[in-house]
Parts: sequence; structure tokens; C-alpha cells
Amino acid sequence: MTPAPRPQPLREHLDRFIADTLARCTRCGRCVEACPMPGYSPTLPSQEPAAVVGGVIALLRQQGGSPAALEWVELCTQSGRCIKACPEGINVMKMVRVARMSALGSLGGPAQVASREEPDFFRKIGAFARLQFGDDEIESSHR
Ligand code: SF4
Repeated sequence: MTPAPRPQPLREHLDRFIADTLARCTRCGRCVEACPMPGYSPTLPSQEPAAVVGGVIALLRQQGGSPAALEWVELCTQSGRCIKACPEGINVMKMVRVARMSALGSLGGPAQVASREEPDFFRKIGAFARLQFGDDEIESSHR
């Protein structure tokens, strides 16, 4: 009998997700265009969507994120609209969450944003990492 697959450690899962995202993202900016949150920012509507994504990619590489990228990852409310907008099939909502982890310094790089009080942050991220939302679930989250 084949043994059950070993659960993937979170860091290993995140590193794999980051590498896959870096390989597939074309920086088209459609995820930012589909996001409802820039409308609530005084600065993001004037930013090029592709440039905002470029800053997020820098965060995934544990480099300095642009002010626009840091603002976008902080504003995310997990609407999930970005996921459907991505022509490459990237889970953009997860990409933004992982970029926020990087911005918080949780992936080993320097912290670039102040941490909110989230004592269960890593437990939530662990649970989130195992989620893959289907279309029905994303749609129902808008109702
Ligand atoms: S929509 Fe997808 S491919 Fe385009 S910038 Fe966003 S994550 Fe990258």
C-alpha cells in the first residue's frame, strides 16, 4: 500500500507558489484593474496597473515593494475578483496575501509595513494556503 502523501510544510508550499507565480505572471495588470479596492485609495487610481503588479512581484522576491504595491496589498479585502481576471490562472488573491507576508517581514526579509495585531496570523495563513476557491464560492462571497 502506498503511504499517504506527507503534508507540505507551509514554507515549502509558499516557496513553490512564489516560484510558480514568478514564472507565470506576465505583469499584464488585469488583476489590479479588476480589483474594487483602488477606488478607495487617493493614490492607486493614478498608478499603472502593470507597475503596481511589478511592485508586488518585487515583494514576492523579498525586495523592496513600491509604495503603490504596499498600499494595494494592505487594501486587499479578498473579494477574489482578481482570480477570475488573471489570464494565466494565477490565484492572485493568494499572491497578494503572500506579498503581504513578505511586506510584514514574515518570509525573512525586512518588514516594510507595520504589523496589525494578528496573534493567529500564521495559523490563518496555514489554513488559507490549503484553500482553493471554486467559481461558486467566489461568486457567493460577493452576495
Ligand atoms: S492578471 Fe495574472 S498575469 Fe496579469 S499581472 Fe495579475 S497576476 Fe500577473
